[in-house]
Amino acid sequence: MFGGSFDPPHVAHVALASAAVAQLQLDALLVIPTGQAWYKERALSAPEHRLAMSQLAFDGLARVQVDPRELQRAGPSFTIDTLEALQVENPGAQLYLIIGKDQFAALKSWHRWEDLLQIAIICIADRTDPTWAEAGFNPKIRLLRPLVHLQLPLMPLSATDIRRQITAGTATPQGLVRLVPEAVARYIERHRLYISP
Ligand code: ATP
Repeated sequence: MFGGSFDPPHVAHVALASAAVAQLQLDALLVIPTGQAWYKERALSAPEHRLAMSQLAFDGLARVQVDPRELQRAGPSFTIDTLEALQVENPGAQLYLIIGKDQFAALKSWHRWEDLLQIAIICIADRTDPTWAEAGFNPKIRLLRPLVHLQLPLMPLSATDIRRQITAGTATPQGLVRLVPEAVARYIERHRLYISP
């Protein structure tokens, strides 16, 4: 499972998904856009936009599928609920949860985080940015299963920064295609997303 707000999905998300499939030899990777992100203060873009952009970004990748279940569920999206549902649907499967290091740093604030560590192997991608405190990263959580570190180059890129650039008018069409997959760039332009903050 690879969850996120994907508002918008960007090239680091796609690189992370590809690296996870290859390095973990996954049979399937479900990209799951979050419904209501309980941990994010701003309102997310409409579910239909985030779903459409996620499909454009990820659907061409081998063994990767976009799964809309959290967008269709009422109330806050808790990862543990989704993982438990996946466990029931795939008896005997080993579940993996793919997250960036900023999310891992905050894992102890997640709903039922201890249960989450019991049912999925946590796979972490490095992420650097001065605003994401390294100090919060605590690998000493008591773990029943070892953490996995994904090998991929650091990608100093965030959806927040991309939205800001579009709102400020500093993201040219050519610039935008270096930040998000081309089809996503076209979708953003066509639907005039992120023009206002
Ligand atoms: P925002 O800036 O809106 O908070 P984001 O860029 O962090 O968004 P999300 O959709 O929240 O993107 O991220 C989904 C997952 O991808 C999270 O686990 C996050 O840590 C990870 N991720 C996002 N960007 C990167 C990156 N540049 N490098 C590594 N992991 C990333």
